[in-house]
This record gives sequence, C-alpha cells and structure tokens, in this order.
Amino acid sequence: MKGAQPTFSTPDLSHIKSADYEHVYEPAEDSFLMLDALESEYAFLNQLQPSICVEVGSGSGVCITFLAQCLGPSAFYMCTDLNPAAARLSQATGRQNNVLVQPVTCDLTSALEHRLKGQIDVLLFNPPYVVTPSSEVGSRGIEASWAGGEKGREVTDRFLPSVSHLLSSKDEIEDMMMTAGFQMTVVNTRKAGREHLSVLKFTRV
Ligand code: SAM
Repeated sequence: MKGAQPTFSTPDLSHIKSADYEHVYEPAEDSFLMLDALESEYAFLNQLQPSICVEVGSGSGVCITFLAQCLGPSAFYMCTDLNPAAARLSQATGRQNNVLVQPVTCDLTSALEHRLKGQIDVLLFNPPYVVTPSSEVGSRGIEASWAGGEKGREVTDRFLPSVSHLLSSKDEIEDMMMTAGFQMTVVNTRKAGREHLSVLKFTRV
C-alpha cells in the first residue's frame, strides 16, 4: 500500500545471556518505547538522510541497532556508555543483527565532542531517571542504568546543554530547552507500573 508506515523487527538479542544483564541494562519498557518512537518517526528520520547517528548510554545496544536496521548502512552508527560492558555488548548486538555499531566508553559524548561537533544528525538518549542520592550517579556499573540523582534529572540536565553543539544544522531540532531556542514534542508515552515514560523529540526552531 502506497505511503504505509513500514514496520521493523525488534533486534535479535538471543546472543545476550541472563548473566550479562547483571552488568548491563536489560531492555525494558523504556527501551521499547524508544523503539516505537523511532519506528513512528521513520519518515522524518529517513528524509533527513543522516550521515552520523549517535546513541548516548546504549546499554545492550538495542536502540542504536534498531535505528541502524531502520535507516540502513548509508549512515555511520556510534554509541557511548560509561559502562565498558555495555559498550562491548552494544557492538555485539550490532554484529548479531548485521549492522555496524561503533562503541566508545565515555561520559555522555565527551570522547566525540571535539570531532563530531555540529555533525551529528540523529542523537538518542534513554537516560537513567530514577531519583537516587547524587552519590550514586556516575558509576561505571549497572547502577548507572538507573541512578538519576536529584529529581532523577542529574544526568539528563548535564546532557541537554550539549545537544545544541552536537547536532548538525540539517537536523530540525525541536525544543524543550525553550531558552536555548528548542521546541519539544512528546512522540509517545506509556505507563509502566508506577512509571510514566515519554520519548521526547527536540527540534531547532
Ligand atoms: N539505551 C539502553 C536502552 O534503552 O535499553 C540503555 C538505557 S539505560 C536506562 C541508561 C544507560 O545510560 C545505561 O547503559 C548507563 O550505563 C548509561 N549511562 C548512564 N550515565 C551515563 C553517562 N554519564 N554517560 C554515558 N552513559 C551513561
């Protein structure tokens, strides 16, 4: 049917053992909400014809691998994670699904900022968002998956100001950061137990 929304399969995660999830975030409602959002935004993402796509905090690699499956090999897919086990697993998940995912172990985008400033076309982040003591934020282990510090926002709030410098100008970035000239769109939301999950999209005005 002409104009029908294409659908994409969830990446094959059969290479991941349950013991791996003792060290790396296991894809959950929030991860799958991100996949749904990427699928629903496929037309937008595809027309961007992105060259460089980056996921921050890739965990198992399920989101960046899905993005690579959706958009194909003409783009370069990178991901970062504070947790070295997550970076390794993200690469393995790409391999398992026949897509090339290049991982870097670093804080947010610190290892990429210099070279990729203004060049990232698609930037994803499903951040840790559970309210915890600030002292729990920043570990390199599984705790980094959920520890969001004060208001659950410490990692997110540190990340958002960098978005403006990293994204390429061909991207239409909408904003939540009104002061920085961004406009926010809620792509989709889901209630998961006591959690209210949302995938937010930012576009430059
Ligand atoms: N993207 C994966 C998904 O959706 O299943 C994992 C999401 S998990 C909620 C958050 C991820 O961010 C974890 O893998 C964690 O190690 C990583 N992370 C937390 N703080 C980070 C930081 N400052 N820099 C890079 N990665 C970070």
